[in-house]
Amino acid sequence: MTGIRWLGALVVAVVATTLGYAAFKVYRGSQAEQCYACRRAIHTPLRTVAIDNGRPRVFCCPACALSEHEQEGKPVRVTELTDFLTGAKLAPGGAFIVKGSDVNLCAHTHELIDADKHAADVQYDRCSPSLLAFGRREDAAAFAREHGGEVAPFSEIVSAFAR
Ligand SMILES: [Zn+2]
Repeated sequence: MTGIRWLGALVVAVVATTLGYAAFKVYRGSQAEQCYACRRAIHTPLRTVAIDNGRPRVFCCPACALSEHEQEGKPVRVTELTDFLTGAKLAPGGAFIVKGSDVNLCAHTHELIDADKHAADVQYDRCSPSLLAFGRREDAAAFAREHGGEVAPFSEIVSAFAR
């Protein structure tokens, strides 16, 4: 009888410790993964790495990273994208972008914050238009059929932003 109780207490303690550690890790993770430019939380399927002033920085989405280039006039070189479907890391050279679909995780977060200021939402947002990266053109095209937007190689998007 006491043996079973003891075991029960042990299980509770182990579960509590595991949950606590998991919560701590999530907390630490959200602390570390913040957009270098806009401080928004990073959504893993949009994670973008770019070299800004010689150092690799993590951005919340490709649009935000490319806006950094636009606003400061300094070259920001994107070195890593994330496949929106699989979460796998992508080399920008071979990536395809769906631009302007109805999915924009960054803007959505933003919208929730000022839900009652809808008219003001037209203002410039560095994470718009939405840019989502895909490793395969077919995946990008299939996504665009469902959610709108146009498919383009990442290199084309970069030159459009540089103009
Ligand atoms: Zn950002």
